Amino acid sequence: MQFDLLVKGGEIIDPEAGYNGKMDVAVKRSRIAAVDKNIPAKSAFKVIDASDQYVTAGLIDIHAHLFKGMTFWGVDADAIGSQAGVTTWADAGSAGAVTLGGFRDYIIDKSKVKIYAFVNISAIGLVAQDYELTNPEYSNIALLKSVVNQHRDIVVGIKLRAGRSGGAQDLLPLKRGRKAADELELPIMLHLSEAPPDLETALSFVKPGDLLTHCYTGQTMKMIDNKGKILPAAKKAWENGVIMDLGHGCGSLSFDSAEALISQGYWIHIISTDLHTMSIHGANLIDPLKGAGDREIPTNGDARNIHYQVKGDGKPALHLLTVMDKMLCLGMPLKEVVRATTSRPSEVLGLKGEAGTLKPGSRADITGFVIEKGDYELFDIHGKVRHGKEHIRNSFTILNGRPLERIEHPAPPPWIEVGYDG
Ligand SMILES: [Zn+2]
Repeated sequence: MQFDLLVKGGEIIDPEAGYNGKMDVAVKRSRIAAVDKNIPAKSAFKVIDASDQYVTAGLIDIHAHLFKGMTFWGVDADAIGSQAGVTTWADAGSAGAVTLGGFRDYIIDKSKVKIYAFVNISAIGLVAQDYELTNPEYSNIALLKSVVNQHRDIVVGIKLRAGRSGGAQDLLPLKRGRKAADELELPIMLHLSEAPPDLETALSFVKPGDLLTHCYTGQTMKMIDNKGKILPAAKKAWENGVIMDLGHGCGSLSFDSAEALISQGYWIHIISTDLHTMSIHGANLIDPLKGAGDREIPTNGDARNIHYQVKGDGKPALHLLTVMDKMLCLGMPLKEVVRATTSRPSEVLGLKGEAGTLKPGSRADITGFVIEKGDYELFDIHGKVRHGKEHIRNSFTILNGRPLERIEHPAPPPWIEVGYDG
């Protein structure tokens, strides 16, 4: 038999290879072997009928928190990947220099899906909820360099939380993050949330090829002024080749910010979830300290109430397809939505030709989905509603040439209470 697996009759979308329209995808072992019209069913041991479905390369989620059991934020990549068709992930700073080896041993090596890491500039990473940058000694460049150089195959950049959640008292972590990234020749992924620092100061540390995440935030580091006009520093970053990532999370998609930026032509380049223990339950986070979606973070170092209530039924409500639904609703064409979840992130992760495309020779990661039509209420993190007409539902996922069976996501950790219905 010529092939092991044949995905037949699907509507292919592959912006990198330029495939568009009804084609068949053949797999031999763990690689894509051929993409063509009318590959005979009898040429493969197993055939998946993908008629009336869209078929893309396995999706890539470049911003999630996957160090489950070791950090406040960690969720299970295999479970979510199996429900959303996400076969490649990048963790955004859960591990720092001290914990990267553990992230590799206990998560990366044990997961079915492929995981890469943006390493936190703070050596402790995101073990606790916040304040990883409070102690300047944790931003240790020499230590970071020596650890990264032992794990070059999994490290894709340096993660930094500019803004109050990181807890930095000054710009030292930003300075050290910049220096470490330059010396290691890796990009920075910089998170935008609550000032200080202000947006302009934060962006002065970013170079072309770096990533900004939470680009459509409505928080105080947002990229627009009060009239909705893009700020000069943001405009410059966008035009200078900084890569703009969505990073939905539970604090970072404001429809107002997104619509203002989109109306001026500023589309994000990469769609990602910022999935973690709170955002996985959807946009409606209820913070006992304040209200939905707008966390008040004390800056005086007081102990915080870290017990969070989130709305939901305990089942995951947010994953990459949910965020893709929202981008379709905001007017991003389907082909661009697929580009922003396949070839663009693959390029950033240095996986061009390996993942994010169905080109023969690439890894046999394939996602099938259907687009249901209707009227769908979509929420941003401030509780604002838009009505989408399309809903993407995963129909099958092939990982490394084999079907990825659905896995239930485990219950939330004790510090997250789900089921608040107020
Ligand atoms: Zn994040």
